Amino acid sequence: MLRFILLLLLTTFVYANDTQELSDSRSFEEFLTDIRTQALDKGISKTTLDKAFDNLKPNPRVIKFDRTQAEFSQNFWRYLSSRVSEYRLKKGAEKLKQHQQELQENYKKYGVPPHIIVAFWGMESNYGGNTGNLGLIRSLATLGFDKRRSEFFTEQLLSLLELIDKGKIPISAKGSWAGAMGNVQFMPTNVAAYGVDADNDGKIDLWGNDADIFASAANFLEQIGWHRAERWGREVSIPKDFDYQLANLNIRKTVNDWKLLGVRAADNKELPTSDMQASIVLPMGYNGPAFFAYRNFRAILRWNRSILYALSVGHLSDRLTGINKLFTKPVVEPSLSRDDINNIQTTLNNLGFDTGEPDGISGPKTREATRKYQKSNNLPIDGYVGYQLLQQLQ
Ligand code: CA
Repeated sequence: MLRFILLLLLTTFVYANDTQELSDSRSFEEFLTDIRTQALDKGISKTTLDKAFDNLKPNPRVIKFDRTQAEFSQNFWRYLSSRVSEYRLKKGAEKLKQHQQELQENYKKYGVPPHIIVAFWGMESNYGGNTGNLGLIRSLATLGFDKRRSEFFTEQLLSLLELIDKGKIPISAKGSWAGAMGNVQFMPTNVAAYGVDADNDGKIDLWGNDADIFASAANFLEQIGWHRAERWGREVSIPKDFDYQLANLNIRKTVNDWKLLGVRAADNKELPTSDMQASIVLPMGYNGPAFFAYRNFRAILRWNRSILYALSVGHLSDRLTGINKLFTKPVVEPSLSRDDINNIQTTLNNLGFDTGEPDGISGPKTREATRKYQKSNNLPIDGYVGYQLLQQLQ
């Protein structure tokens, strides 16, 4: 904890005065002039641009948020218990009841059930309790000016200006430091592509209009591959002699084929007969819970690429429909710091298992190198980058 606080202090100090260094070649004013030209080309009015850029300065807080990455990567149980909290369960049940009719109508139209919409809503903004309070134009202009991901955020800024110009979003709109807005935290390009003005008042009000919020989230999910009347996945039980290499999102088999390999329901009962395609996910390695991931799980991953996020949305939605807690009991295990993961990556690289350039974040390449290391050492090949691996490598 002390290390964490020191890191925060350090980053605060280092970044207190660094907006001058965001770009090598141009000033913020030059950046805005360039954006203005591009915006006028897109047909955005001069009046909107004058108002939007009036006295606009980069926001140092945004840069600070962007550069202060969490020092620890939460493991599955910690992530799940903080995301699927008692508060979210209680509040989510209230929201389901309160908005029953609108959510059902929304379901009929888009095929995304109420408990899924409410789970995203809870995950993204605590049901509207935390939608962000930074001016969106200023945040996106800051990040667009910053050379690190200039192209992505410049596109978001132009999209936002266009939405404002069309009167769909107010010029004073606020959001997260990264430019996500409203109850379901859409980026501007998502609002433009998937936002729905469900009550036909000309605005896509993701802050205060429930119909717009539910329809936009459901429309987005439908467009990115949500299938009506299918679950996202479920907890399962895998046999002791399971080939853990099969637990990989790139491997899909029918439920029937998994049954032949000994996979059972989480309560150890037989799974129903089904031709549905599933992958197996082990978010905490062979010692933790196992899940079937159906194709709706992949839709959740298109909303947010984190597997832990997708499992948490799925589990929160299950709990809201009365499905029990997970059968697997939580394992208490220290979370790994970025330094720990960096050490793992460096050690694996030295042993000849290529993780790429060590960055303290365990992505697909690190997991694949871990599997190779496990294979050559006769360990369970689950690819899990956790505390046990750290100890083995030490
Ligand atoms: Ca509306």
